[in-house]
Amino acid sequence: MSKTGRLNAMRPVWLEIDLGRLACNYRLLAAKAPDAKVVGVVKANAYGHGAAVIGKELIQLGAWGLAVATVSEGKALRQAGITAPVLLLGSLHPDETEDVLNEKLTPFIGTWEAAAGLEAAARARGIVAEAHVKVDTGMGRVGVPAASAKNFVDMASKLSHLRVTGIASHLASADEDPVQTNDQIKQFQEVKRVLGPGYLYHLANTYGILGFPQASFDMVRPGYGLYGLAENTGLMPIARLLAKPSLIKQVNAGTPIGYGAFYRARENEWVATLPVGYADGVPRSLVGKGAVRLGQKTLPMVGRISMDQITVRLEEQTNLEEVFEVLTPDFHPLTSLNGWANLVGTVAYETAVRLSPRLPRVYVRNGVQVERLEA
Ligand SMILES: *Cc1c(COP(=O)(O)O)cnc(C)c1O
Repeated sequence: MSKTGRLNAMRPVWLEIDLGRLACNYRLLAAKAPDAKVVGVVKANAYGHGAAVIGKELIQLGAWGLAVATVSEGKALRQAGITAPVLLLGSLHPDETEDVLNEKLTPFIGTWEAAAGLEAAARARGIVAEAHVKVDTGMGRVGVPAASAKNFVDMASKLSHLRVTGIASHLASADEDPVQTNDQIKQFQEVKRVLGPGYLYHLANTYGILGFPQASFDMVRPGYGLYGLAENTGLMPIARLLAKPSLIKQVNAGTPIGYGAFYRARENEWVATLPVGYADGVPRSLVGKGAVRLGQKTLPMVGRISMDQITVRLEEQTNLEEVFEVLTPDFHPLTSLNGWANLVGTVAYETAVRLSPRLPRVYVRNGVQVERLEA
């Protein structure tokens, strides 16, 4: 049921997240890798969508586990009551070993220091730690070189308090370079041939799942696609950013609007101020380019984007109960996460993760609110 939190006054700005669409995206991706387990990647607060609710939903949908980038992200999932496996992506630093054991996370390890650190910490507790060995097949950031994987895993297997349960690698160019991607797949197949059975092998991110069936191995790790941000794939964005105006006013031609008087009214016109700004994730660099939706109308953002407010030019008077769509759940060139990314020269991964934790998040299913989380 709806959780309205402790605040009486609700902020008239909220990020609405459609769990029905999340389920569609999950099923579409899972069907592309029918024999593989699914790890739902919920790092960076589930790409801005809220890791606890999204994580629970993914487990309900059948995901084997979840993946995060930091120990505190993993801890937050545990505190939310998630008991499924949680992979810690990247490459474990020895400083993190105690926390990883405390939170029962399954880290990627790619250095001997990490393996030895885990072994020592697990031995001191009288337990056996689990880890997945990260193999570098061409991303070039972290991981044991593919040619040394056998040697590393053999050595790690001699540690009595460490159990290697998985072998992972990561694709560098699945959305742009099939030659490099196929080369990485081949290298990973060779790693698997040399190491043999007994491990969960996993390689594919969203674009690996969508474009390379032979990249699925035992398990796949979608992130971006779950949130529907991959264009022309049948996946659908799941988030809308909504706001009610804090002020509607009519201004005379020449009236300055916002910092630096960057915009002056061109004629006698109506302007709305929406109480959402770059601290919420609306890129400041959308100045002069951005727009919001009101019903079927696309209305230009005018003036600079402030930390906590934006101003938009209306076609006619409206009222404070009108709900504006600052972000639409589609690929619109002006009002979507992908559109924003194109306008400001980045990728939708970044515009999504910039959606601020201070936004209230409202989860809906079939148009009905199931949960509201205040910031
Ligand atoms: C982020 C990440 C993923 C998910 O990638 P998407 O492109 O968002 O699907 C998978 N694996 C690793 C190791 C990652 O860091």
